[in-house]
Amino acid sequence: MSPLLLLNLDDKLTLKKKHPCGGLVWSVVRIGADIGITCDTCGHKVLLERSKLETRIKKIERAQKTTV
Ligand SMILES: [Zn+2]
Repeated sequence: MSPLLLLNLDDKLTLKKKHPCGGLVWSVVRIGADIGITCDTCGHKVLLERSKLETRIKKIERAQKTTV
């Protein structure tokens, strides 16, 4: 399994492509069949299929909490 698929709420994602607002960092706000993320710069929210999101992620910064 790819570690990229192991997302937790509040993880910060750096995507390869800039949002039109200029933001690169997104927060994970919803986990499910689709992943919900919000742009940290402008607050825009999008839902993406896991597989689609995975191809766009450049870096994952884990939320500061312990998860099992
Ligand atoms: Zn934005």
